[in-house]
Amino acid sequence: MAFDMTDPAANPRIEIPSRAPSATPTDDVVTPFEVASLDLRGRVVRLGPAVDEILTRHAYPQPVAKLLGEAVVLTVMLGSALKIDGRFILQTQSDGPVRMLVVDFVAPDKVRACARFDKGQVAEAIAAGAGSLLGKGHLAMTLDQGPDMNRYQGLVALDGGSLEDAAHEYFLRSEQIPTRVRLAVAEELRAGAGGASHRWRAGGILLQFLPKSPERARVADLDPGDAPEGTEPHVVEEDEAWVEGRALVSTVEDVELIDPDLSSERLVYRLFHEPGVRVFRGGPVRAECSCSRANVEAMLKSFSKDDRDHMVEDGKISVTCEFCSANYMFAPDEVGATGE
Ligand SMILES: [Zn+2]
Repeated sequence: MAFDMTDPAANPRIEIPSRAPSATPTDDVVTPFEVASLDLRGRVVRLGPAVDEILTRHAYPQPVAKLLGEAVVLTVMLGSALKIDGRFILQTQSDGPVRMLVVDFVAPDKVRACARFDKGQVAEAIAAGAGSLLGKGHLAMTLDQGPDMNRYQGLVALDGGSLEDAAHEYFLRSEQIPTRVRLAVAEELRAGAGGASHRWRAGGILLQFLPKSPERARVADLDPGDAPEGTEPHVVEEDEAWVEGRALVSTVEDVELIDPDLSSERLVYRLFHEPGVRVFRGGPVRAECSCSRANVEAMLKSFSKDDRDHMVEDGKISVTCEFCSANYMFAPDEVGATGE
Protein backbone atom coordinates (compact mmCIF):
# COMPACT_ATOMS: atom_id res chain seq x y z
CA MET A 1 0.00 0.00 0.00
CA ALA A 2 1.49 3.34 -0.98
CA PHE A 3 1.62 5.04 2.41
CA ASP A 4 3.49 8.30 2.27
CA MET A 5 4.23 9.89 5.58
CA THR A 6 5.26 13.32 4.35
CA ASP A 7 6.24 13.99 0.74
CA PRO A 8 4.91 17.53 0.49
CA ALA A 9 5.92 17.70 -3.17
CA ALA A 10 3.43 14.98 -4.00
CA ASN A 11 0.66 16.65 -2.10
CA PRO A 12 -0.16 20.24 -3.00
CA ARG A 13 -2.49 20.48 0.01
CA ILE A 14 0.57 20.62 2.24
CA GLU A 15 2.79 23.66 2.25
CA ILE A 16 6.20 23.79 3.84
CA PRO A 17 6.02 26.25 6.69
CA SER A 18 8.98 28.15 8.02
CA ARG A 19 7.44 29.25 11.26
CA ALA A 20 8.27 28.29 14.84
CA PRO A 21 6.26 25.49 16.43
CA SER A 22 2.76 26.67 17.17
CA ALA A 23 1.92 27.01 20.82
CA THR A 24 -1.78 26.72 20.14
CA PRO A 25 -3.01 23.14 20.31
CA THR A 26 -5.35 22.08 17.54
CA ASP A 27 -7.57 19.04 17.74
CA ASP A 28 -8.75 16.72 14.99
CA VAL A 29 -5.67 17.15 12.89
CA VAL A 30 -2.91 15.05 11.31
CA THR A 31 0.55 16.64 11.38
CA PRO A 32 3.32 15.13 9.21
CA PHE A 33 6.96 15.71 10.08
CA GLU A 34 10.43 14.84 8.90
CA VAL A 35 13.75 14.41 10.69
CA ALA A 36 15.99 14.59 7.62
CA SER A 37 19.30 14.09 9.44
CA LEU A 38 18.11 10.68 10.69
CA ASP A 39 16.05 9.70 7.61
CA LEU A 40 12.93 9.60 9.74
CA ARG A 41 9.42 10.50 8.75
CA GLY A 42 6.27 10.42 10.76
CA ARG A 43 2.96 11.89 11.67
CA VAL A 44 1.14 12.91 14.78
CA VAL A 45 -2.62 12.48 15.07
CA ARG A 46 -4.53 14.48 17.62
CA LEU A 47 -8.26 13.82 18.07
CA GLY A 48 -10.70 15.68 20.30
CA PRO A 49 -14.30 16.31 19.20
CA ALA A 50 -14.09 13.76 16.35
CA VAL A 51 -13.21 10.80 18.57
CA ASP A 52 -15.52 12.04 21.33
CA GLU A 53 -18.44 12.10 18.90
CA ILE A 54 -17.76 8.54 17.69
CA LEU A 55 -17.18 6.97 21.11
CA THR A 56 -19.88 8.88 22.99
CA ARG A 57 -22.53 7.99 20.41
CA HIS A 58 -21.83 4.25 20.69
CA ALA A 59 -21.60 4.26 24.51
CA TYR A 60 -19.68 0.96 24.50
CA PRO A 61 -18.15 -0.35 27.75
CA GLN A 62 -15.10 1.79 28.55
CA PRO A 63 -12.33 -0.69 27.52
CA VAL A 64 -14.13 -1.39 24.23
CA ALA A 65 -14.43 2.35 23.56
CA LYS A 66 -10.74 2.79 24.35
CA LEU A 67 -9.73 0.02 21.96
CA LEU A 68 -11.95 1.42 19.21
CA GLY A 69 -10.43 4.86 19.84
CA GLU A 70 -6.95 3.39 19.29
CA ALA A 71 -8.15 1.83 16.03
CA VAL A 72 -9.53 5.22 14.96
CA VAL A 73 -6.15 6.91 15.59
CA LEU A 74 -4.27 4.18 13.69
CA THR A 75 -6.70 4.35 10.77
CA VAL A 76 -6.52 8.13 10.51
CA MET A 77 -2.72 7.95 10.71
CA LEU A 78 -2.49 5.46 7.84
CA GLY A 79 -5.50 6.49 5.75
CA SER A 80 -4.39 10.12 5.61
CA ALA A 81 -0.95 8.95 4.38
CA LEU A 82 -2.30 7.23 1.28
CA LYS A 83 -1.50 9.20 -1.82
CA ILE A 84 -4.67 8.34 -3.65
CA ASP A 85 -8.31 9.05 -3.01
CA GLY A 86 -10.62 6.33 -1.91
CA ARG A 87 -11.76 4.50 1.18
CA PHE A 88 -9.32 2.95 3.65
CA ILE A 89 -10.82 0.35 5.95
CA LEU A 90 -9.14 -1.10 9.01
CA GLN A 91 -10.89 -4.15 10.39
CA THR A 92 -10.09 -6.69 13.08
CA GLN A 93 -11.69 -10.08 13.39
CA SER A 94 -10.79 -12.24 16.34
CA ASP A 95 -11.93 -14.72 18.97
CA GLY A 96 -11.43 -12.31 21.89
CA PRO A 97 -14.17 -10.45 23.79
CA VAL A 98 -14.12 -7.80 21.03
CA ARG A 99 -15.04 -9.79 17.92
CA MET A 100 -14.68 -7.03 15.40
CA LEU A 101 -13.55 -3.43 15.04
CA VAL A 102 -14.26 -1.54 11.83
CA VAL A 103 -12.87 1.91 11.10
CA ASP A 104 -13.49 3.48 7.78
CA PHE A 105 -11.59 6.53 6.52
CA VAL A 106 -12.75 8.32 3.39
CA ALA A 107 -10.10 10.59 1.87
CA PRO A 108 -9.33 13.30 2.57
CA ASP A 109 -10.83 13.67 6.05
CA LYS A 110 -13.90 11.60 7.03
CA VAL A 111 -13.80 8.85 9.64
CA ARG A 112 -16.41 6.53 11.18
CA ALA A 113 -16.07 3.46 13.40
CA CYS A 114 -17.94 0.71 15.20
CA ALA A 115 -17.27 -2.45 17.21
CA ARG A 116 -18.94 -5.80 17.82
CA PHE A 117 -18.28 -7.56 21.07
CA ASP A 118 -19.54 -10.21 23.47
CA LYS A 119 -21.02 -8.37 26.45
CA GLY A 120 -20.48 -11.22 28.91
CA GLN A 121 -16.88 -11.80 27.86
CA VAL A 122 -16.09 -8.08 28.00
CA ALA A 123 -17.51 -7.90 31.54
CA GLU A 124 -15.46 -10.96 32.54
CA ALA A 125 -12.30 -9.48 31.00
CA ILE A 126 -12.88 -6.20 32.89
CA ALA A 127 -13.44 -8.06 36.17
CA ALA A 128 -10.31 -10.16 35.62
CA GLY A 129 -8.26 -7.09 34.68
CA ALA A 130 -7.29 -8.85 31.43
CA GLY A 131 -5.08 -6.93 29.06
CA SER A 132 -5.99 -7.52 25.44
CA LEU A 133 -9.62 -7.69 24.36
CA LEU A 134 -8.65 -8.64 20.84
CA GLY A 135 -7.61 -12.31 21.17
CA LYS A 136 -6.38 -14.24 18.18
CA GLY A 137 -7.44 -13.50 14.66
CA HIS A 138 -6.37 -11.00 12.06
CA LEU A 139 -6.24 -7.35 11.21
CA ALA A 140 -7.05 -6.38 7.65
CA MET A 141 -6.34 -3.09 5.92
CA THR A 142 -8.22 -2.53 2.71
CA LEU A 143 -7.94 0.22 0.16
CA ASP A 144 -11.08 0.59 -1.92
CA GLN A 145 -10.88 3.03 -4.80
CA GLY A 146 -14.31 2.39 -6.24
CA PRO A 147 -16.17 -0.31 -8.12
CA ASP A 148 -13.94 -0.29 -11.21
CA MET A 149 -10.65 -0.52 -9.32
CA ASN A 150 -8.85 -3.43 -7.66
CA ARG A 151 -9.16 -3.57 -3.92
CA TYR A 152 -5.83 -3.83 -2.17
CA GLN A 153 -5.76 -5.75 1.09
CA GLY A 154 -2.98 -6.26 3.60
CA LEU A 155 -3.39 -8.80 6.41
CA VAL A 156 -1.56 -9.34 9.66
CA ALA A 157 -2.16 -11.90 12.40
CA LEU A 158 -3.47 -10.80 15.78
CA ASP A 159 -1.94 -12.89 18.49
CA GLY A 160 -3.26 -11.60 21.77
CA GLY A 161 -1.23 -8.38 21.55
CA SER A 162 -2.17 -4.75 21.08
CA LEU A 163 -3.00 -2.77 17.95
CA GLU A 164 0.45 -1.16 18.23
CA ASP A 165 2.01 -4.64 18.03
CA ALA A 166 -0.11 -5.50 15.00
CA ALA A 167 0.89 -2.27 13.24
CA HIS A 168 4.61 -2.97 13.84
CA GLU A 169 4.18 -6.48 12.51
CA TYR A 170 2.35 -5.24 9.42
CA PHE A 171 5.04 -2.73 8.47
CA LEU A 172 7.83 -5.19 9.17
CA ARG A 173 6.37 -8.07 7.14
CA SER A 174 4.38 -6.37 4.40
CA GLU A 175 6.22 -3.13 3.78
CA GLN A 176 9.67 -3.91 5.21
CA ILE A 177 9.80 -0.46 6.78
CA PRO A 178 11.09 -0.08 10.34
CA THR A 179 8.12 1.53 12.10
CA ARG A 180 7.11 2.50 15.61
CA VAL A 181 3.58 3.49 16.53
CA ARG A 182 2.23 4.85 19.81
CA LEU A 183 -1.50 5.14 20.40
CA ALA A 184 -3.31 6.64 23.39
CA VAL A 185 -6.96 7.15 24.30
CA ALA A 186 -8.42 8.53 27.51
CA GLU A 187 -11.47 10.12 29.00
CA GLU A 188 -10.90 13.63 30.20
CA LEU A 189 -12.88 14.73 33.22
CA ARG A 190 -13.79 18.38 33.48
CA ALA A 191 -15.43 20.09 36.39
CA GLY A 192 -18.31 22.25 35.25
CA ALA A 193 -21.31 24.11 36.59
CA GLY A 194 -23.60 21.12 36.03
CA GLY A 195 -21.14 18.62 37.54
CA ALA A 196 -18.19 16.81 35.98
CA SER A 197 -18.34 16.05 32.28
CA HIS A 198 -16.47 13.42 30.30
CA ARG A 199 -14.80 13.91 26.95
CA TRP A 200 -12.88 11.33 24.96
CA ARG A 201 -9.49 12.34 23.62
CA ALA A 202 -7.05 10.32 21.54
CA GLY A 203 -3.68 10.73 19.94
CA GLY A 204 -0.86 8.88 18.34
CA ILE A 205 2.52 9.17 16.75
CA LEU A 206 4.03 7.09 13.97
CA LEU A 207 7.71 7.06 13.11
CA GLN A 208 9.34 5.35 10.13
CA PHE A 209 12.92 4.90 9.05
CA LEU A 210 13.20 5.56 5.32
CA PRO A 211 16.89 5.74 4.36
CA LYS A 212 17.87 6.27 0.74
CA SER A 213 19.89 3.05 0.69
CA PRO A 214 17.51 0.19 1.55
CA GLU A 215 20.18 -1.98 3.19
CA ARG A 216 20.22 0.49 6.08
CA ALA A 217 16.59 -0.35 6.84
CA ARG A 218 17.34 -3.83 8.18
CA VAL A 219 15.88 -4.61 11.58
CA ALA A 220 17.06 -6.93 14.32
CA ASP A 221 13.81 -8.50 15.43
CA LEU A 222 12.87 -10.29 12.23
CA ASP A 223 12.79 -13.97 13.19
CA PRO A 224 14.43 -16.47 10.83
CA GLY A 225 11.00 -17.59 9.58
CA ASP A 226 11.16 -20.91 7.76
CA ALA A 227 14.93 -21.35 8.06
CA PRO A 228 15.88 -24.94 9.00
CA GLU A 229 15.81 -25.67 12.71
CA GLY A 230 19.10 -25.11 14.45
CA THR A 231 20.05 -22.26 12.13
CA GLU A 232 21.83 -19.59 14.11
CA PRO A 233 19.71 -16.43 13.99
CA HIS A 234 21.42 -13.89 11.79
CA VAL A 235 22.62 -11.10 14.04
CA VAL A 236 21.78 -7.79 12.46
CA GLU A 237 23.14 -4.54 13.67
CA GLU A 238 20.46 -1.89 13.33
CA ASP A 239 21.27 1.46 11.83
CA GLU A 240 22.19 4.04 14.46
CA ALA A 241 19.73 6.58 13.10
CA TRP A 242 16.84 4.18 13.58
CA VAL A 243 18.06 3.13 17.02
CA GLU A 244 18.05 6.80 18.03
CA GLY A 245 14.65 7.53 16.46
CA ARG A 246 13.05 4.51 18.05
CA ALA A 247 14.49 5.39 21.44
CA LEU A 248 13.12 8.93 21.19
CA VAL A 249 9.62 7.87 20.18
CA SER A 250 9.52 5.24 22.94
CA THR A 251 9.79 8.05 25.49
CA VAL A 252 6.43 9.49 24.41
CA GLU A 253 3.92 9.09 27.20
CA ASP A 254 0.18 8.63 26.76
CA VAL A 255 -0.49 11.95 28.46
CA GLU A 256 1.63 13.78 25.86
CA LEU A 257 -0.44 12.30 23.06
CA ILE A 258 -3.76 13.41 24.53
CA ASP A 259 -2.83 16.55 26.49
CA PRO A 260 -5.21 19.27 25.24
CA ASP A 261 -2.61 21.91 26.13
CA LEU A 262 0.27 20.45 24.12
CA SER A 263 0.23 21.06 20.37
CA SER A 264 1.37 18.36 17.95
CA GLU A 265 4.10 20.70 16.75
CA ARG A 266 5.43 21.21 20.26
CA LEU A 267 5.39 17.48 20.92
CA VAL A 268 7.41 16.79 17.77
CA TYR A 269 9.78 19.63 18.60
CA ARG A 270 10.21 18.32 22.15
CA LEU A 271 11.21 14.91 20.77
CA PHE A 272 13.38 15.86 17.82
CA HIS A 273 14.77 19.35 18.39
CA GLU A 274 18.30 18.00 18.68
CA PRO A 275 18.57 16.24 15.30
CA GLY A 276 16.30 18.95 13.83
CA VAL A 277 12.74 18.47 12.66
CA ARG A 278 10.59 19.94 9.93
CA VAL A 279 6.84 20.00 10.52
CA PHE A 280 4.40 20.18 7.62
CA ARG A 281 0.99 21.72 7.63
CA GLY A 282 -1.54 19.26 8.95
CA GLY A 283 -4.85 18.22 7.51
CA PRO A 284 -8.14 18.18 9.41
CA VAL A 285 -10.16 15.08 10.34
CA ARG A 286 -13.85 14.89 11.14
CA ALA A 287 -16.29 12.26 12.36
CA GLU A 288 -18.75 11.83 9.57
CA CYS A 289 -20.63 8.79 8.36
CA SER A 290 -20.83 8.08 4.67
CA CYS A 291 -24.15 6.25 4.79
CA SER A 292 -27.07 7.55 2.73
CA ARG A 293 -30.57 6.50 1.79
CA ALA A 294 -29.36 5.84 -1.77
CA ASN A 295 -26.54 3.54 -0.55
CA VAL A 296 -28.86 1.60 1.75
CA GLU A 297 -31.39 1.26 -1.06
CA ALA A 298 -28.69 -0.07 -3.42
CA MET A 299 -27.52 -2.50 -0.74
CA LEU A 300 -31.08 -3.81 -0.22
CA LYS A 301 -31.56 -4.22 -3.95
CA SER A 302 -28.37 -6.34 -4.09
CA PHE A 303 -30.07 -9.01 -1.91
CA SER A 304 -32.28 -11.71 -3.36
CA LYS A 305 -36.02 -11.01 -3.54
CA ASP A 306 -36.55 -13.77 -1.00
CA ASP A 307 -34.14 -12.09 1.47
CA ARG A 308 -35.84 -8.75 0.96
CA ASP A 309 -39.27 -10.28 1.54
CA HIS A 310 -38.01 -11.67 4.84
CA MET A 311 -36.84 -8.21 5.93
CA VAL A 312 -40.35 -6.78 5.80
CA GLU A 313 -41.72 -6.17 9.27
CA ASP A 314 -45.00 -4.39 10.02
CA GLY A 315 -45.29 -3.52 6.33
CA LYS A 316 -41.87 -1.84 6.04
CA ILE A 317 -38.14 -2.50 5.87
CA SER A 318 -36.09 -0.69 8.50
CA VAL A 319 -32.30 -0.46 8.34
CA THR A 320 -30.16 1.12 11.05
CA CYS A 321 -26.59 2.18 10.22
CA GLU A 322 -24.20 0.39 12.57
CA PHE A 323 -21.74 3.29 12.43
CA CYS A 324 -23.97 6.29 13.15
CA SER A 325 -27.34 4.79 14.17
CA ALA A 326 -29.17 6.63 11.38
CA ASN A 327 -32.40 4.83 10.54
CA TYR A 328 -33.69 4.34 7.00
CA MET A 329 -37.24 3.10 6.33
CA PHE A 330 -38.51 1.75 3.03
CA ALA A 331 -41.92 0.66 1.82
CA PRO A 332 -41.51 -2.89 0.41
CA ASP A 333 -42.29 -1.83 -3.18
CA GLU A 334 -39.56 0.85 -3.07
CA VAL A 335 -36.91 -1.87 -3.02
CA GLY A 336 -38.77 -4.57 -4.93
CA ALA A 337 -40.01 -6.59 -1.96
CA THR A 338 -43.48 -7.92 -1.36
CA GLY A 339 -45.18 -6.64 1.79
CA GLU A 340 -47.11 -8.99 4.07
ZN1 LIG B 1 -24.23 5.97 9.04
